[in-house]
Amino acid sequence: MNIYDNPSRSDWAELTKRPAKDLTSLRTSVSAIMENVRANGDAAIKELTAKFDGIELQSIQVDQQVIDAAGEKLDPKLREAIRLAKSNIERFHLAQRSRIDEIETMPGVTCWREARPIQKVGLYIPGGTAPLFSTVLMLATPAHIAGCEEVVLCSPPNRETGEIHPAVLYTAGLCGVTKVFRVGGAQAIAAMTYGTESVPSVYKLFGPGNAYVTVAKQLAQLDGLAIDMPAGPSEVLVCADAGAGKEAVAADLLAQAEHGADSQVVLVVGTEEQANTIKQEVDRQLADLPRKEMAGKSIDNSFILVLPERQDQLDYINEYAPEHLILSMAEPRKFAAGIKNAGSIFLGYHTPESVGDYASGTNHTLPTYGYARNYSGVSLDSFVKQITFQELTRAGLEQLGPAVMLMAEAEELVGHGRAVSVRLGQPS
Ligand code: NAD
Repeated sequence: MNIYDNPSRSDWAELTKRPAKDLTSLRTSVSAIMENVRANGDAAIKELTAKFDGIELQSIQVDQQVIDAAGEKLDPKLREAIRLAKSNIERFHLAQRSRIDEIETMPGVTCWREARPIQKVGLYIPGGTAPLFSTVLMLATPAHIAGCEEVVLCSPPNRETGEIHPAVLYTAGLCGVTKVFRVGGAQAIAAMTYGTESVPSVYKLFGPGNAYVTVAKQLAQLDGLAIDMPAGPSEVLVCADAGAGKEAVAADLLAQAEHGADSQVVLVVGTEEQANTIKQEVDRQLADLPRKEMAGKSIDNSFILVLPERQDQLDYINEYAPEHLILSMAEPRKFAAGIKNAGSIFLGYHTPESVGDYASGTNHTLPTYGYARNYSGVSLDSFVKQITFQELTRAGLEQLGPAVMLMAEAEELVGHGRAVSVRLGQPS
């Protein structure tokens, strides 16, 4: 980990850059996969799953009995932990339901907004080595609370068993997913975009994935689907004061680094001495981390920034716009008041990012790559649309109508003006 001791502001731009991944070269191959699925439906899914996952699929959809029985394959303590996490996530997202406020903008003119669920949503849960049941919790729980009618989940079949991990299936069943399919990669995104004989098409896609999945989601957008947010490697910025324990700070940095070689890890401290102490502790803890190879690569690309002034620390963090921000300090709320850009903030000495990743209640699907400047993380809002309403009385139309007619005339839209005048009994 490089240490940068109080760099000048002109160097900050370089220190907020994330390694850019050029995905344009994948567009042609992903486009071909998507076209194949659009044209050939289930047959294409089976062909592509054999090619990329090495599995000859008998059935694309997972039977409900398999989902219902998945819990029996899990340690009861894990089932309990998943249920605890679900309960916290549910509680936090239930509180996000918006109140309906009817506003009389002028006498006889009433306006309001009401949330209505996106009817059909698709959740992508990556395959790979780790069964990401926590992502099922984070996406399916708000989808269920929002009232989405169809919640479709796609995940690649395991290369050995041909099945989806029981923890993913158990969580899907628990959180109200309506249909689960053994399909991954771009073919899964294509199936949920265009629909096949087995897989229903949806209106909005959620969930992380590898480069093929990311590009497929971009292409799905061109076909009119909404997506949760642009994707990039996960990242954390830890800002630690002199009272922060070196073990805890180092562990927070490594927890992020073990996600993958391209994970971003930044530490901001006030003195060079603290920077060196934590750097040594990171090396010590890294040595016995099972995923040390991956974490080591990420740590090699990471750095420590020494910024003695609190205002500089705040300004740098706001420029970096981290996905996760850990404020390991004595008065975190006071400091957090100055934060303008971050996906999710973890306050104080006792709040590791891991709690938000799994079970505190907040959502772990968050904007990476500096998108925290202009995007929020997934929440209940991500699964609804807000419909606006207005209702006028006769007196209201009499009051407002003349202004509308005048404006319509000025825009030379005669029909608009007439829709008011005929109601007011004026000659058309
Ligand atoms: P994945 O489910 O994303 O992708 C697996 C699929 O990729 C396979 O089913 C296969 O169909 C397809 N594929 C593989 N090789 C291909 C090829 N040559 N051409 C076309 N398709 C091909 O699982 P993964 O690959 O293990 O990746 C998981 C990804 O999820 C990682 O990139 C990880 O960074 C990301 N992730 C991100 C977050 C986050 O929050 N940002 C969280 C978890 C995981």
